[in-house]
Amino acid sequence: MSVKNGPKPKHVDYRGILEAKAAEVRRSMSAQKAAQVVARLDIPSDEGDLSQQHHEEWIFLNRNSIDMKLLREIADALHRLDTKTYGICLECEEPISPKRLDAVPWARYCVSCQEKISARIAEGEIVDEYQVVDR
Ligand SMILES: [Zn+2]
Repeated sequence: MSVKNGPKPKHVDYRGILEAKAAEVRRSMSAQKAAQVVARLDIPSDEGDLSQQHHEEWIFLNRNSIDMKLLREIADALHRLDTKTYGICLECEEPISPKRLDAVPWARYCVSCQEKISARIAEGEIVDEYQVVDR
């Protein structure tokens, strides 16, 4: 490593990383859409296949909603860059470790808050992490 461990935080182009990721997700969403249209053409139009078709649609929508959620998280992270709050945990307001931001550039919480929130989601106390900040 040629980078010195000084007090100065290393400069990482999170905006570039986030924008590239958003573009990648959008690309994969449209690729899925195209794949689904192609798959449709192979489905014979008799009644028995209808439930299978619904099932595939559900998988598609479900996968899409995961992508939509990711896009929202990325958009939120870009907004935090604009408002200079990027990299600050929304829960405890401590800086999120650069290591975590490298792994999850759209992270909203530090590792320990994320763990607490995930536990609350697992217990059914809250639906998802947006509920924590949205209200
Ligand atoms: Zn925190």
